[in-house]
Amino acid sequence: MYNLQSVVQRLEEEGLRITPSRLAVVAAVLDLSGHFSVDDILSQVPEVGRATVFRTMKLLSEMDVLCRVLLDDGSLRYRVSQRQDHHHHLVCVSCASVQELDACIDPEVLNELARTTGYEIEGHWLEFFGRCTACRSDSA
Ligand SMILES: [Zn+2]
Ligand SMILES: [Zn+2]
Ligand SMILES: [Zn+2]
Repeated sequence: MYNLQSVVQRLEEEGLRITPSRLAVVAAVLDLSGHFSVDDILSQVPEVGRATVFRTMKLLSEMDVLCRVLLDDGSLRYRVSQRQDHHHHLVCVSCASVQELDACIDPEVLNELARTTGYEIEGHWLEFFGRCTACRSDSA
């Protein structure tokens, strides 16, 4: 799991300046458990400007420190990544719990897609929705 020190180290490795505002956003992100919205972070660090919060969270997402999770109701949430690299999520439509998954699209499928469309594929979203084991046993 990430802590303040390891995230700061990641930022430094990326050649990014550690400003007090960035540090405040990182600390707020690590303080929250489960998933959260940009607004949750904004209310944690009222002294930091909105644009800085958005930029920092985007940066942390690109570094795989934060995951972006699309919930079943269409809202976008963030959470601290447990895997520290590219992965996908299983989202429970009943309790909104999120599980991280190793599964990804077969690279052959991506290559084929790039070849047939002429696109240079830069990324993809892949989320799975369903009911978790706890919610399934509740209704049984
Ligand atoms: Zn994740
Ligand atoms: Zn559930
Ligand atoms: Zn993937």
